Amino acid sequence: ILKIDKLNKYYGQHQVLYDISFEIQKGEVVALLGPSGSGKSTLIRCLNGLEQFQSGFLFFGGKQITPQEKNWPQLRQKIGMVFQSYDLFPNLSVLDNILLGPLKVQKRQRAEATAEALKLLQRVGLEKYAEVYPRQLSGGQKQRVAIVRALALHPELMLFDEVTASLDPEMVRGILEIIRELSERDNMTMIIVTHEMNFAAQIADRILFLEEGRILEQTPGKEFFQHAKTQRAREFLESMT
Ligand code: ATP
Ligand code: MG
Repeated sequence: ILKIDKLNKYYGQHQVLYDISFEIQKGEVVALLGPSGSGKSTLIRCLNGLEQFQSGFLFFGGKQITPQEKNWPQLRQKIGMVFQSYDLFPNLSVLDNILLGPLKVQKRQRAEATAEALKLLQRVGLEKYAEVYPRQLSGGQKQRVAIVRALALHPELMLFDEVTASLDPEMVRGILEIIRELSERDNMTMIIVTHEMNFAAQIADRILFLEEGRILEQTPGKEFFQHAKTQRAREFLESMT
């Protein structure tokens, strides 16, 4: 569903991603791990057009995306993203936050889109919160809304960047359960950046280990946690436990 070929990214003179190449098949879950500053967020943002890359190619659903791609708004409907900060619109209710994309971007019928949004809210345990404003929600609830908002566009790929990093421990579990269910029940294709090593070990089909902007290793999930190929990845894992 997604193929990345020799992607390079600079901030000004400073190169932050070096010849990144990997593929992800439909239904696969890839966890992107690596130390702080290794380029995980930058890579995820390049896959969603939030950052421009300078060279290399993306292929999404068989279509080539060049560094000059102009059609990101269209593509972003198919590539959902949730970050650490939920960035919901404070002046819109939960339901209106979710409906914005389906109605304004996808021009769907309000009744149909609303019915689906309510169903999604029910699925994450927030059916009673449709008319509430984001400031009235806890961090974990906001993050659920952010996930529902992305799902409402019917994405083919979901990108998660440390979505539990700013949550209280008891909130973390609920969000991770939702992500796990997306994989197991919906067979959603996902790229996940997380510091939750147990979660990554359980859910990821494959681990990409990044350091200083390079993929040091690509290893099947279980194998990575049992015996990572590189010394550097083993050290990283030790530092995380
Ligand atoms: P963390 O685990 O702390 O979130 P990360 O792996 O997500 O780290 P990135 O945020 O992708 O790392 O950063 C990769 C590199 O790019 C770092 O050296 C960082 O300083 C640099 N960088 C990130 N964003 C910018 C920016 N907007 N302008 C300039 N440099 C940036
Ligand atoms: Mg980051």
